[in-house]
Amino acid sequence: MIVNEIFYSLQGEGFLAGIPSVFVRLAGCPLHCRWCDTKYALSESAGQNYDIGEIVEKVQKWPCKYVVITGGEPMISPELSQLAQQLKGLNKHITIETAGIAYLPDLACDLMSISPKLSNSTPAEPKLADIHEDSRLDTAVLRELIDNYQYQLKFVIDSQDDLAEIQQTLKKTGNINSEKVMLMPQAATRQEFLSKSEMVADLCKRTGFIFCHRLQILLWNNQKGT
Ligand code: SF4
Repeated sequence: MIVNEIFYSLQGEGFLAGIPSVFVRLAGCPLHCRWCDTKYALSESAGQNYDIGEIVEKVQKWPCKYVVITGGEPMISPELSQLAQQLKGLNKHITIETAGIAYLPDLACDLMSISPKLSNSTPAEPKLADIHEDSRLDTAVLRELIDNYQYQLKFVIDSQDDLAEIQQTLKKTGNINSEKVMLMPQAATRQEFLSKSEMVADLCKRTGFIFCHRLQILLWNNQKGT
């Protein structure tokens, strides 16, 4: 597998925010979101080739139960299932962070952390924008993920206008537990996070959705390895 980085930090987002966790960041994502905060991991070659045993060995450097497999987009990696299985064999709690663009069955996954992409993430470059628009949202895939895994749904909010699109997406996908829907400010820096947080908090109060923290931005200003 092409691994961009393996590091120990706190989970920054979602229901498990604040829990010390080992992160395995796989390289490669076709979406190229405009505001992607891990652009250094988007190319399929943005890392080193490890076999699964090497990844598991590195993860075990830290005496930590929680492992987050992230990217890039881990769900497009053909060896994801094997990696998750081996980590599960060590009694790890496994979160998989995905944009929800691909479904794989029977993964050893305790929490599928799905962040469907809205039109606010479309990149400016026309060729990338076409690929992004073709693949960013597949409600049938979302349905499969939601039906088959414990999940959380995190939407990135750039402005309050995004709410209508989120509501359309939820309606189209159908039967989503609103207590698992989270809104998080679009931000690449601590300053940006703080400046958008109040607007997102107001949206959460209006809708009942949950405010999603981003501790990696608040604490470390989104430095690589956090
Ligand atoms: S889906 Fe995630 S990793 Fe992929 S480009 Fe968008 S923000 Fe970056």
